[in-house]
Amino acid sequence: MNNTNLKNKVAIVTGASRGIGLEIAKIFYENGAKIVITDIDDKTLSIVNKEFDDSKNILSIVSDVSISDSVTNMIKTTIEKFNKIDILVNCAGITRDNLIIRMKENDWDNVINTNLKSVFLTSKIAGRYMMKEKSGNIINISSVVGITGNVGQTNYSASKAGVIGMTKSLAKEFASRNIRVNAIAPGFIDTAMTKNLKEDAKEQLIDAILLKRLGTTKDIANAALFLASSLSDYITGQTLVVDGGMIT
Ligand code: NAP
Repeated sequence: MNNTNLKNKVAIVTGASRGIGLEIAKIFYENGAKIVITDIDDKTLSIVNKEFDDSKNILSIVSDVSISDSVTNMIKTTIEKFNKIDILVNCAGITRDNLIIRMKENDWDNVINTNLKSVFLTSKIAGRYMMKEKSGNIINISSVVGITGNVGQTNYSASKAGVIGMTKSLAKEFASRNIRVNAIAPGFIDTAMTKNLKEDAKEQLIDAILLKRLGTTKDIANAALFLASSLSDYITGQTLVVDGGMIT
């Protein structure tokens, strides 16, 4: 049997209408899982839903991960349709970069709420179902910036460092119920989030990466598949850095 087989597993992926989240949803689906794709934007979500065109195995739900009622509704709708949640991937995220002396309080709050509070909300609410089932798998998308820090990203790096800390705490709280919790810390991945970087800055960045290329969404999706599958059954509380050797 294929060890990455996710047949009969139900996976929620937040922020799944594009970028890394969409690639994770696709690879899980290709490996047999039923997928709940959630996103804040109903337009992009409905386009993705049409692409999958499989209402039996795919459920799309508009949900703002930073709002408790919205997350509660998303989890409830998932249970109504599929009766369980096996895998939760917390991928939704935003940046609002600026030097701290210029950073608006609102940009601090939005980034912390979308990137960090969201993981608290989804893990708390989905975690209840997983605890009852005595089975589950949570994968949080952090960032290398949560490990190294970065100029202009105090809000983002704090949120992503928080995700790594929360991953370790959740792993300790949930282990006795057979729920694994891990994080992935991507390096510089070629998505809409990073498209605004100037060409010369991009070249400098690539030069600092041991493998001399930007990461792809597939690189991260492959790591998520590993953590979601039985190949990683003895791994919990860890942060897997997937950055081509950028922060080594
Ligand atoms: P992306 O292309 O900008 O996708 C982010 C997704 O999250 C979008 O679909 C977005 O929806 C959704 N989203 C934003 N706010 C949300 C909210 N409140 N509720 C629900 N969904 C929301 O970004 P990406 O590059 O794929 O990044 C995915 C994750 O990887 C993020 O957590 C990011 O921090 C992390 N990451 C990315 C990189 C990188 O280099 N790209 C590196 C390290 C970590 P809309 O379409 O409506 O905006």
